[in-house]
Amino acid sequence: MVDTTVATPAPAAPDATAESIAARVATIRAGFDSGITRPLSWRRAQLQAVARMLRENTAEIEAAVHSDLGKPPVEAYMTEISSVLTETKAMLKNLARWTRRRRIPFVPTVWSAGFVQREPLGTVLIVAPWNYPVHLLLMPAVGAIAAGDAIVLKPSELAPATSAVMARLVPKYLDSRAVTVVEGGVPETTALLEERWDHVFYTGNGTVGRIVMAAAARHLTPVTLELGGKSPVWVDPSANLDEAARWLTWGKFLNTGQTCVAPDYVLTTPEVQPRLVAALCREIEAFYGPEPRTSPDYGRIVNERHVARLARLLDGASIAVGGQVDANDRYVAPTVLRDVRAIDAVMQEEIFGPLLPIVPVKDSDAAIAHVNAGEKPLAMYLFAKAKEPIEAFLARTSSGSVAINADMIQLGVDALPFGGVGESGMGGYHGEATVRLFSHERAVLRKAAGPNPAAMTFPPYTAKKERLLRRA
Ligand code: NAD
Repeated sequence: MVDTTVATPAPAAPDATAESIAARVATIRAGFDSGITRPLSWRRAQLQAVARMLRENTAEIEAAVHSDLGKPPVEAYMTEISSVLTETKAMLKNLARWTRRRRIPFVPTVWSAGFVQREPLGTVLIVAPWNYPVHLLLMPAVGAIAAGDAIVLKPSELAPATSAVMARLVPKYLDSRAVTVVEGGVPETTALLEERWDHVFYTGNGTVGRIVMAAAARHLTPVTLELGGKSPVWVDPSANLDEAARWLTWGKFLNTGQTCVAPDYVLTTPEVQPRLVAALCREIEAFYGPEPRTSPDYGRIVNERHVARLARLLDGASIAVGGQVDANDRYVAPTVLRDVRAIDAVMQEEIFGPLLPIVPVKDSDAAIAHVNAGEKPLAMYLFAKAKEPIEAFLARTSSGSVAINADMIQLGVDALPFGGVGESGMGGYHGEATVRLFSHERAVLRKAAGPNPAAMTFPPYTAKKERLLRRA
């Protein structure tokens, strides 16, 4: 977990006072209560509006994300815009199927038919972090729209340009009676959490996750917590090292390592380590050239505080490649650390930056023991040609998700629920899972005309009834 709770900068655009936030939430709740969000036609129109918003303002959104994170425009398009567009398309395509009544077989023992109806939960709060500031705000939102909920969106104050763009565009495209953006930082989020919600969806760190859950508990509000953690990698001696290194270079240095499912650290054997380091050096140069600082494809760290945090993690470390830090430019080079030990500083917290420690261990059993000594991670990556180590990891460890011979792409597969377990979060989303998450599955039973077998259970309890009832 990244400690981001200290010295959070003042929000760039504090939205309003607690009273006016309460008034805005009341407006959205009234929108839900009026029933406007329920018809599928409304949901469809809103989903189409999200797609239009992203298509008609691509350049502005990319510029905002670039200003917040130095993210190359094409990468911003890929990870922030096209991912949400794809999700929106899937929602539109499957809207009727994912929200329709699901009949159960006729039940002769109660002579009844029944169905499960997904109904909207009501008014939901979505609180997003800064690292994928559009994606992590809108991915859950499109599922909440499809489910028929009214929504308050709270973008991260640590990505102020993106927060401002979202606050400007959302009211222009979406129905302001049922969808709104509240900007701000801790005071505004605290005010929002005072409100009574039907669901709170939070993405960020575990410290704030606990605050969110405690606030929600006051109203018995269900929560989804999408948190982080140290996602381990096992590079087996049987792995194709060049391919593993290519995936790790992509997964670790995309968005400058500021990705919740980024490979956090690598476990491998002492024999594999030097060959893996050599392959990583080659791949880093192939991706970003000999001087990554000048590469248009390499991003920046979100703020100076995080640069300083990453620089501290490098103190005394054995740097195999990279290691350069320039706080003024918010630059931290793609860095590989070798011979890292479990007690080293870099292994005590989620790195959330472009540092890749390699921790040599004796074998896959020792790697499994290492993983199990820590918290359950959000993701786990296994590189191996041999089947046994993969099966051993699957059988003896736990994590939100696993990718085998790849990293991070499990996130893009709609049929796989995305979420954490234990310290890395609770609740999975994406695709139909998001609609399920933002719906209540209401059980409906309709007694059919004809016999009433249940009458047997009504008093008076005659001897005959008792005999029959005790037979079961
Ligand atoms: P952040 O600082 O932007 O915080 C997230 C949200 O919490 C913001 O909207 C912020 O306003 C709010 N917040 C901050 N302090 C608060 C407080 N005291 N009370 C109420 N609300 C508060 O983002 P972050 O937490 O630095 O994000 C990084 C973390 O998020 C990492 O641990 C990362 O792994 C995790 N993450 C998880 C996922 C996922 O999908 N599981 C995705 C991205 C990031």
